[in-house]
Amino acid sequence: MDNLFDIEEWGISQASFDPKLQKAAESIFSLGNGNFGQRANHEEFYSGDSLQGNYVGGVYYPDKTRVGWWKNGYPEYFAKVLNGCNWSGLDIYVNGIRLDLGKLKIISFKRSLNFKTGLLSRESVLELKTGEQIMIHAERFCSMDNDRIGAVSYSIKALSGNLDLNISVFLDNDVRNEDSNYDEIFWDHVYSISDDEEKYVLAKTKKSEFLVATSMFYCCKIDNKRIEVKVNAECSPLKICDRFQLSINEGQVFQINKVVSIVSSLASEGAEVVDSCLATLNGIRANSYEDLRNNHMNAWAEIWKNADITIKGDLAAQQAIRFNIFHLFQTYTGKNAKLNVGPKGFTGEKYGGATYWDTEAYCIPFFLKTAPSNVSRQLLKYRYDQLGMAIENAEKLGFKNGAALFPMVTMNGEECHNEWEITFEEIHRNAAIVHAIHNYTKHTGDSSCLMDYGWEVVFGVARFWMQRFNWSERKNAYVMLGVTGPNEYENNVNNNWYTNYAARWCLKYALDVNLKLDRDKGLTEEEIDRMTEIVAKVYLPEDEKGEIFLQDDGFLDKELIPASEIPENERPINQYWSWDRILRSVYIKQADVLQGLYFFYDNFSKECVEANYRFYEPFTVHESSLSPCIHSILAARIGLNSEAYKHYLRTSRLDLDDYNKEVHEGLHITSMAGTWMSVVEGLAGVHVSDAGVRIAPSIPKNWEALSFQIIVNNQPLSIVLRQNEASFENRGDLDLALEYGEVSKVIKPKERVEFLMNMS
Ligand code: BGC
Repeated sequence: MDNLFDIEEWGISQASFDPKLQKAAESIFSLGNGNFGQRANHEEFYSGDSLQGNYVGGVYYPDKTRVGWWKNGYPEYFAKVLNGCNWSGLDIYVNGIRLDLGKLKIISFKRSLNFKTGLLSRESVLELKTGEQIMIHAERFCSMDNDRIGAVSYSIKALSGNLDLNISVFLDNDVRNEDSNYDEIFWDHVYSISDDEEKYVLAKTKKSEFLVATSMFYCCKIDNKRIEVKVNAECSPLKICDRFQLSINEGQVFQINKVVSIVSSLASEGAEVVDSCLATLNGIRANSYEDLRNNHMNAWAEIWKNADITIKGDLAAQQAIRFNIFHLFQTYTGKNAKLNVGPKGFTGEKYGGATYWDTEAYCIPFFLKTAPSNVSRQLLKYRYDQLGMAIENAEKLGFKNGAALFPMVTMNGEECHNEWEITFEEIHRNAAIVHAIHNYTKHTGDSSCLMDYGWEVVFGVARFWMQRFNWSERKNAYVMLGVTGPNEYENNVNNNWYTNYAARWCLKYALDVNLKLDRDKGLTEEEIDRMTEIVAKVYLPEDEKGEIFLQDDGFLDKELIPASEIPENERPINQYWSWDRILRSVYIKQADVLQGLYFFYDNFSKECVEANYRFYEPFTVHESSLSPCIHSILAARIGLNSEAYKHYLRTSRLDLDDYNKEVHEGLHITSMAGTWMSVVEGLAGVHVSDAGVRIAPSIPKNWEALSFQIIVNNQPLSIVLRQNEASFENRGDLDLALEYGEVSKVIKPKERVEFLMNMS
């Protein structure tokens, strides 16, 4: 697979401009700070193919789902993440010619994204039709220090000849989604102003009525000396624009530093959105661009202290893992309990910033080991805050007595996806949410989240499962009918092993939690009896020999033809086959039974994992980016090291090398957490259980060393793995139980231990 852009240890760069790659680059080089983000669009006007994209966390539009064949229980709307105010834009004319990389002659070009500092920069020499050459340099960031702030520094150097510059500095909220029908606009104008004191646009989303204020200030310099410019300010609905003119002589540099504040009603903490936005900007007005930039870089340095992974001996793998970690932290920082991790983060419109089970199944495991525990806790709180709506959602479908069904896709707790087989049937998401509470408690040793409010989620979900199972006389067991498992290439199946197993686990967990709670909070006697009865008699489909867990009741009736027999030119099948053919086929979109073996890792023997892995891997087409990482982890566990590495490669550079030919639409943010899992939990073999940390590495032959830190029990543990040695350092203040190969050891605070090992 060819690399789209250049490989660097701490970043990515593009050394020449190719308009065909512009949309891919806009996704890959995108920026964010957990609160808002944007694609790497050029600051100046660009006439070529581009997806202008600016997104503010949690801000969406409820699109209609009403159709003639409406069925009771269908979600009321489909949430579209909204493309918002273009805040980094400038429109520039040089000697009467518009700066536009789509039209001008490009002499040189370099764009870089630095993962260490979170700075996006671009330098280019351009030639005007009139022969003058100019050098532009642009740098920008979404501040990690203050997540309401974004900043751009843009300069033009007159390389040959004198230049007359006409500059427009604007904020433009008059934007449309690429996926809107009939060019519909989702924003209403509320107010805009640009005078000496205040420059802002206040916009309101249609129907959902989110307010978003974007304000700016800027300063201009020539040869690094501040200048005043005479501004002609224009305000129009949803847009403000300041225009001015100036001239520079050959050799001189004009620079403009533009700083913006973006505040939505979701993040204004009760204050008026505009007041909050202006106060943020006033609070930093005295700071220079460089001050803000330093604060931003320091915030990134703090993140990397915990989260970095170094891979010596494989530059492509090194770049990929840092790329993934970088984008995950750009998407979610845990500062606002109303936000979550969208599958495309702030990098595109499809899937947008909505919350899926991806958060609990993939992202929480990542944040638990790489960030302070409050980050994961905030994600648990997000679901807890939506428990009421999950109960209403279940009631709409006919469940009662506090049964909760969390949505498969949501912006605010309401289900907002429009496919019935996903919203009604992909109910396994409920289990991932409870499993995440358990995972948090296990990793952090902090049971206060469970005891203070998590138990309500655990019980709500258990009540749902209790009602969703039904007794089958024929099978003499509790069965679950009409579901879709994680494998979405099969719908309305009976007894999906994964769902049945995970639901039973949730019921058992609820019974355990119940024992620890005060009686007045607990389950009723009737509920306890019924849950206990179901737990004892859940039907879990297996093959005749009892070796393979069956994905569902009908799985073995399918034509069991391995995916290797699908002609290359028919892959991915979701682009070439009819949906009907896919649904009847044996092909598995993503780990399903294997997802269960990963989730409930401690409950299955190596032999059992191996038998199921060998059975399911040949039928799995991995057409969800969430799939190869799970296969990679399980392959490593059963000693199939080269398979583990093969799957790891597929996940790690998925976006960087555009394996699925769709990176122009945005990045696969949540599956980036899966990539991280496949390094840490797969190749490094790190597993946290109630007994402590177990490490069973199988690092690829070409890696000299793999080093990283994980947080367990709020204690940092540093891990360095080489081909034939391993060392661990307990950087915390408490003892840490470690199991490595056959050796079990308690590592004292600040103690470092080394082991020799044979990797073959
Ligand atoms: C996967 C789901 C996932 C969603 C968002 C789908 O393609 O099948 O499991 O939740 O993408 O990432």
